[in-house]
Amino acid sequence: MVVAEDKDILKLKLKEHFGYTSFRGNQEAVIRNILSGRNTFVIMPTGAGKSLCYQLPAMIKEGLAIVISPLIALMKNQVDQLNAYGIHARFLNSTLSKAEITRLRKDCISGSVKLLYVAPESLNKEDNISFLQKVKISFVAIDEAHCISEWGHDFRPEYRKIKSMIGQLGEMPVIALTATATPKVQLDIQKNLQMEEADVFISSFNRKNLYYEVRPKKETKKQLIRFLKEHKGKSGIIYCLSRKKVEEIAQLLNVNGFSAAPYHAGLDPDVRIKNQDDFLNEEVNIIVATIAFGMGIDKPDVRFVVHYDVPKSLEGYYQETGRSGRDGLEGICLMFYSHNDLNKLEKFNKDKSVQERENARVLLQEMEFYAESPVCRRRQLLHYFGEEFMQANCGMCDNCVHPRERYDGTEAVKTVLEAAKQTNERFGLNHLIHVIRGTEDEYVKSYGHFDLPIYGTGGNEEVDHWKSVIRQALIYQYLEKDIENIGVLRLTEKGKKFLAKPHPIELARDHDFTTAIEDEEVSTERPVTSKSYDEKLFEMLKNLRKQVARQKNLPPYVIFQDPSLEEMATTYPTTQEDLAAVNGVGMGKVKKFGKEFLELIQKYVDDNDIETATEVVVKSSVNKSKIKIFIIQQIDRKVDLEEIAESKSLTFEELLTEIENICYSGTKLNLDYYIDEVLDEHKQNQIFDYFLNSETDSLEEAMADANNAEYSEEEMRLMRIKFLSEYAN
Ligand code: ADP
Ligand code: MG
Repeated sequence: MVVAEDKDILKLKLKEHFGYTSFRGNQEAVIRNILSGRNTFVIMPTGAGKSLCYQLPAMIKEGLAIVISPLIALMKNQVDQLNAYGIHARFLNSTLSKAEITRLRKDCISGSVKLLYVAPESLNKEDNISFLQKVKISFVAIDEAHCISEWGHDFRPEYRKIKSMIGQLGEMPVIALTATATPKVQLDIQKNLQMEEADVFISSFNRKNLYYEVRPKKETKKQLIRFLKEHKGKSGIIYCLSRKKVEEIAQLLNVNGFSAAPYHAGLDPDVRIKNQDDFLNEEVNIIVATIAFGMGIDKPDVRFVVHYDVPKSLEGYYQETGRSGRDGLEGICLMFYSHNDLNKLEKFNKDKSVQERENARVLLQEMEFYAESPVCRRRQLLHYFGEEFMQANCGMCDNCVHPRERYDGTEAVKTVLEAAKQTNERFGLNHLIHVIRGTEDEYVKSYGHFDLPIYGTGGNEEVDHWKSVIRQALIYQYLEKDIENIGVLRLTEKGKKFLAKPHPIELARDHDFTTAIEDEEVSTERPVTSKSYDEKLFEMLKNLRKQVARQKNLPPYVIFQDPSLEEMATTYPTTQEDLAAVNGVGMGKVKKFGKEFLELIQKYVDDNDIETATEVVVKSSVNKSKIKIFIIQQIDRKVDLEEIAESKSLTFEELLTEIENICYSGTKLNLDYYIDEVLDEHKQNQIFDYFLNSETDSLEEAMADANNAEYSEEEMRLMRIKFLSEYAN
């Protein structure tokens, strides 16, 4: 086994299997930890790359890695992505037929499968447990681990049984991963999994490539359409509060010439799944959805997330906006805000218990502060999750790009801090404002706070002004929230020092969303990242990818992701080796999808007289052409195809793909010895005739043709190989 002590080995493995040249954030540390057999707990924001933390160790460690994931609907998608990298991953859930399960078990026991995605419900089944007991397991990964906790935002009761299920499989390291970071949830998860001793890796929540913007909710449909026109053709999500609104906006967009589909829990499951798939497959650009949409969606090239209505909490907002720009490229997060939305949300809670209502209210208030605040959005969001962002100007939010009017806030901050100090740091925002403005209510009376020196000294300013000052004092860390007592504000050390020796402080004015006037409208100008790649070639590559994706019935990004295409449009690779060196590609993909792309680039380079510097690349991946030669030799010797697959740890499907590749690259193969055994002559003739008369060799069309209804995909593929060998080559 590779213990991977050497930094370079891990990197080589990363490049070999996934085509990436470097790790992100904590990935490497996490991977080392799991490789060394330690229980590991990972908190990483959405899009930071949690999957790789278990996928790479799965490739390095001996045995089968089990990945528990709550999202049956997305398992196939994830497995497809891995298969596209040439990685043998499979899934086990209720959608599989008996025959498929039998085959899957055989493959797992034979040891060729490296990753098995399992739904907790399936893991709970006795016969699955007893089959897994026969398999050598490398480790267990629990994705979306916050589902374990009742305090998390997506509790799944069956997740609480995971520990006892794993227990039946023997001793093995566990890695739990989530993007929800509150300390309470974290502790709950660790307790439930009995891994309090686990090494915990918490990453920064800063998503540097996301642009945050809040606009007044006014002539919203017009604004939305204008925004979408500026981003025509890009993928995006629009979140609405209600199903009705979802339907309405989806329709509005379609009428206006955008391709959009609705998604909400009230839709027929078939329609819902189709709409989701259409979005993932880029058949539609825009999905208009309630928050039912999105968990686990890892479409990397979502370019914008629009909140048509105000979200219920900053947690939700952060999660939802986090679905944009996961590939590290452009991600615009636009929210339409109105105070009225908050009132509506508050009304939804009227049937809840007092405590729940109070909690919900606190969350809404944070939302209000965020939207109306003049402070850097990034700084506010990170502050909320307990992280301090010290950069003066992030350059990637409306408040930094268009700074609000500033004023000398020294006296105001002094007043606020004095109020907190004189009330013994035992009160919250509303009471402090009452004291400052001299509003005599019951609390003021019962505590006798009208006697305080600070009482009434700020009566000449409105409530909103003081809210804004307190809020900024919090973000700039003169005040802090008391963790034990919700709502109570206390002085920080910095705050105390300031009171002892004040220094000038600049504050900014809040947005005024109540009297939003036309020329106040936040402009849409953003710092345009100058495109360093060849846009024309990029577009051509994207079109080709779409075509290939259609042919292969895969989502386009499974073929190559946008950053890879951008790199191709920068370095113009024209050989397999050069293409494999592109970030996110690797030789596995080159063999699978590279041919047409290389041809396109070669032609483009020739047509435009572009000089390509053929780089010297040190390759680490195994020589795939050796496998091809092996297959050709074995077929010459008339070896059973199942046997060939097994001896090279390929699935039957993968072997067929290899054989197809061999065929498509011009080598004749005679499979008659095998085909004659599995297909009778009549069937053979029929399929052969079909290909003879068909205009394309597309498998999809072949399968769709009614006359072929009685044949399996495998049979069609075998006959297509025969056909190609006899006719095309
Ligand atoms: P999440 O943490 O939300 O589960 P994913 O694992 O789905 O995130 O990863 C998000 C995106 O980041 C994916 O498109 C993935 O291909 C990409 N990615 C992950 N790790 C790397 C890396 N080391 N280099 C480049 N891209 C990466
Ligand atoms: Mg994930």
